[in-house]
Amino acid sequence: PHDDLTPLIEAHVRDIPDHPRPGVVFKDITPLLAAPEAFSAVVEGLTAGHGPGTVDAVVGLEARGFILGAPVALRLGAGFVPIRKAGKLPARTLGESYDLEYGSATVEMHADAIAPGSRVLIVDDVLATGGTGRAAVRLVQRAGGTVVGFSVLMELAFLSGRDKLSDVKLHALTTV
Ligand code: AMP
Repeated sequence: PHDDLTPLIEAHVRDIPDHPRPGVVFKDITPLLAAPEAFSAVVEGLTAGHGPGTVDAVVGLEARGFILGAPVALRLGAGFVPIRKAGKLPARTLGESYDLEYGSATVEMHADAIAPGSRVLIVDDVLATGGTGRAAVRLVQRAGGTVVGFSVLMELAFLSGRDKLSDVKLHALTTV
């Protein structure tokens, strides 16, 4: 359960230079999703040592956090809750905005998705600047939940996202 997944992730996540904008190296996880043994090992890693019954809800961040978070939720016997970009969720929502290099972004969660007192594990693929992650933590806390962990497949250390999440238990399966 505490295997170093770095070699496996390096073998199955590919760099796409200049996507979606010049200067960005996009981490493409689709080869990992297509390799069932690697996918399974990563899902196990993202549980971050939490066992069945210790987490009430897994929150996944749109869109790759949905793909990774849903199997983590099932593994933990927890519910799955999506946090989405603004305007996508159909029922009443809570929203959080955060600054981007140019402009801002808003993410939303259904207002009734997290019961007060819930233990919540947040899951995403890549931690970059931490803006999305910070907004997700705020949404869970505003709903009355406790963030018991924040799991990512990959942390881009040069963007210092970890600094925005210093109050949560951040678990990165690999750091680049
Ligand atoms: P940030 O808010 O800057 O931490 O960005 C995190 C979100 O953007 C995550 O949901 C990631 O899926 C996505 N993201 C940011 N940078 C990259 C990257 N280089 N490759 C793939 N996804 C990224």
